[in-house]
Amino acid sequence: MDLHSLAERMSGRAARYDAAGAFPEEDFDDLREAGLLGLMAPPHLGGAGASFAEYTDVAMRLGSGAGATALIFNMHASVTGALASTPDELVRQFGGTESFFTFRDRVLKAAAEGALYAVAMSEPGIGSRLSQVRTSYERTGSGFRIDGAKTFVSGAGHADAYLVAARDRHSDEPRISYFLVPAGPGVEVRPVWDSLGMRATASHDLHLGVEVGEDALVGGIEGAALVLAQVMPQWLVASYAAVYVGVAQAVLRHGAEHLRERGLHALPMVRARLGRADVQVAAAELVVRKAAALVTDDPGSPETNRWVWRAKLIAGDTAAQVAFSVLEAAGASATRRGHPLERLYRDARCGALQPATSDVCADWLGASALGENPDEARW
Ligand SMILES: Cc1cc2nc3c(=O)[nH]c(=O)nc-3n(C[C@H](O)[C@H](O)[C@H](O)COP(=O)(O)OP(=O)(O)OC[C@H]3O[C@@H](n4cnc5c(N)ncnc54)[C@H](O)[C@@H]3O)c2cc1C
Repeated sequence: MDLHSLAERMSGRAARYDAAGAFPEEDFDDLREAGLLGLMAPPHLGGAGASFAEYTDVAMRLGSGAGATALIFNMHASVTGALASTPDELVRQFGGTESFFTFRDRVLKAAAEGALYAVAMSEPGIGSRLSQVRTSYERTGSGFRIDGAKTFVSGAGHADAYLVAARDRHSDEPRISYFLVPAGPGVEVRPVWDSLGMRATASHDLHLGVEVGEDALVGGIEGAALVLAQVMPQWLVASYAAVYVGVAQAVLRHGAEHLRERGLHALPMVRARLGRADVQVAAAELVVRKAAALVTDDPGSPETNRWVWRAKLIAGDTAAQVAFSVLEAAGASATRRGHPLERLYRDARCGALQPATSDVCADWLGASALGENPDEARW
């Protein structure tokens, strides 16, 4: 099935999953069937070996079909994409051992075979500030013991494994590491998710009291999480951007449909709102695609990273602004539960709030424009 048809099928189901606040099972059956869970895995492991620019294109199209599904897919792509794109030299430079490469291949091959990964970084009370993470770990004879609580875990209960950020409980410095923790005993999903927007992400809480093997430590390196956040901001900052441009495109599509159906399309004020929204969405798409092309061709450079933060800021703000304005043009009938614009209005509102929030992106860009170090104490 091509991406366009896939997005249309997802769009047709979105209202139902949104109303139930339920994980979009059928969408993931389709994504699996289309081989998209292996999008970022290299061809020799059964995947498509996509670049960040290709991921961006897929995420945008999925986002225009069903934002929540695209957001869960983004979390999976962040895990697999970051693993697939970390250069071997960088892994060795930070002390990664050969076992990392075995681990990486195993995880990516499983994704190509249909495994789904989720991200469990955020915590109650601290949001996504990695340096403040309270979930902790300690070494055992055979690996690690991890204890703590996570919140906002998109796809919780449906993932095969979770990327968990945890601090070394015996270190005075904030030594934050990533673990890939398999679903199962000791990983308890608490179904508390009932939120304004992106309801079908099923971003429930996760409680951890679990022992994992040595090979669950991502990269085989302790204390890598904060460094990775700085050297690969695309997966923590820009990858959501494509999803929210897709959501904004859906606002234009459903907005135009509604205006035509109700005969409002001849009103100049209404048309002007759609025209402004059109140019805002086009501008956001250009910035997001420019950032994605730079990440693909010149990852990690200061210029690339500036575009990464610009992409997240413009995508989040644009989605919220156009959803607000197009809903106003569409009128109160579009605020009824079940109307696509009502759902998109709520979904679009989440873009600027997801880390890095628009305010944080603006602060980063301002610090950079002032010649300061924008990454200082960011996470
Ligand atoms: C739909 C959805 C899906 C999500 N899925 C996941 C997921 O799968 N996995 C996951 O780990 N998390 C996920 N998140 C959680 C999300 O990433 C955040 O961690 C969470 O929203 C933080 O919530 P918070 O209310 O503590 O706000 P915070 O992000 O802490 O923000 C509160 C305020 O502080 C400001 N602020 C935050 N950080 C800084 C900073 N460094 N400098 C200056 N100001 C700052 C913000 O701008 C904001 O005004 C998801 C969130 C949403 C909305």
